[in-house]
Amino acid sequence: MPDRLQQLHSNPLTAWLARSAGLPNPVTLARADGPYSAELFAGKVAVLASVGDGYLEPGLRPILAAAGADVRQPGELAGDERCDILLVDASGCLAPGDYTELFEAVHPLARRIANNGRVLVLAPPVGSAESPAAAAAARGLEGFTRSLGKELGARGTTVNLAYVSRAAAERLEMLVRFFCGPQSAYVSGQALDVSADTAPPAAQPTEQVLAGKVALVTGAARGIGLATARRLRQEGATVVALDVPAAADDLAHVRGELEIESLALDITAADAPAQLGDFLREKFGGLDILVHNAGITRDKTLGKMQASQWQQVMEVNLEAVLGIDAALLEAGLVRDEARLVYLSSMSGIAGNFGQTNYATTKAALIGYVDALGRELAARGICANAVAPGFIETAMTGKMPFFTREVGRRLNSLKQGGEPRDVAELVCFLASPGAYGVNGNTIRVCGQALIGA
Ligand code: NAD
Repeated sequence: MPDRLQQLHSNPLTAWLARSAGLPNPVTLARADGPYSAELFAGKVAVLASVGDGYLEPGLRPILAAAGADVRQPGELAGDERCDILLVDASGCLAPGDYTELFEAVHPLARRIANNGRVLVLAPPVGSAESPAAAAAARGLEGFTRSLGKELGARGTTVNLAYVSRAAAERLEMLVRFFCGPQSAYVSGQALDVSADTAPPAAQPTEQVLAGKVALVTGAARGIGLATARRLRQEGATVVALDVPAAADDLAHVRGELEIESLALDITAADAPAQLGDFLREKFGGLDILVHNAGITRDKTLGKMQASQWQQVMEVNLEAVLGIDAALLEAGLVRDEARLVYLSSMSGIAGNFGQTNYATTKAALIGYVDALGRELAARGICANAVAPGFIETAMTGKMPFFTREVGRRLNSLKQGGEPRDVAELVCFLASPGAYGVNGNTIRVCGQALIGA
């Protein structure tokens, strides 16, 4: 979808006007155009910086090098050379005094990061810090990261942070590939936990990362669900696209285009869990990836909301999700090492006017993945949520022009995301290599200015 502001700035007749009015000129995001390749960082310059005596740095260089990056130390950039990736091992940041070293490491590089660059900061976990001062030092890195994301966002650069326990130091390859690669074009300002709680997978491929996996995506006839089905298929998964019977024609089209399976089923139907279970058992014997994407809105302020509007949203967005999970788990259809991904929303984090029903369900999913992830970790299963911000879909396309423009621009990248941006994050979380990420909620919002 063409971006009106980009059009204004690129047209010689309107560029001057756009500049004079101070209108932002959103950079064209460099997104991935295909599946993961082993040499994902080929042609990229990566700088690896450390703060203090970190425990992650030794493992990071091989990850960058194996992906084809030209890896440098800080100070090794020649002349006006720029870096595409800045990876900061701040696991040795244990006291506020270490921030001086942080400043000295990143300050000289801040103006040398290329457009569409990637910055990933790795921090020690706050919860297991040995003293309040160490916890402060770790948590402060989040403020640093989020602020840098706001400063560099206009150039399409994303800045994210991962808290990595010492025991999880081996679990970073896929994480680095995602957060330092083009797949995370619309993910910025995020902080996630990487832990060693989940049993490791048998293999962590870096190409065709979902080969041999069976994936089910609900609400896949259009929008984010369709983009997700397409993306999972691209990585080699066998995909089942599910949507309501009324969307059967769209589903048939999707099935033909992507050469996947489809299932017309309303997830709120009383027998939906049983029907779904029978389908999966007969066709595949179980599943490896479950993306709970189907969701609806019925917006009204609470005082004006009909009970039916409240109830419909509860049923689709939450009750059906929990019911299907319970049935599939009970029936033994969720395989070991499975990846469960839930579509939450920025509304679930920040709340939203007119969306008490929707925000309740989307926040509930955040609590759900936290608990479910812990419950299933011993089986190598991860449960995570994805919280999209403003994504250019049919839903947001129907908004009044002004509301849409405001929603689209209120983020560090000054533009809306695309369904495939959400699909990329889901695909990362669905991959075997994301086994250190469990119970997290990650936003894909261009670092929206609303909420955390
Ligand atoms: P969409 O309305 O375009 O697609 C949702 C799909 O879910 C539709 O195909 C619909 O038929 C299907 N669905 C609805 N109820 C169903 C049911 N009972 N059984 C089976 N399928 C059902 O929505 P989207 O914009 O692609 O959003 C997908 C998910 O992402 C939703 O959960 C939504 O809440 C979430 N989300 C979207 C945005 C955004 O900006 N688009 C932002 C935050 C969160």
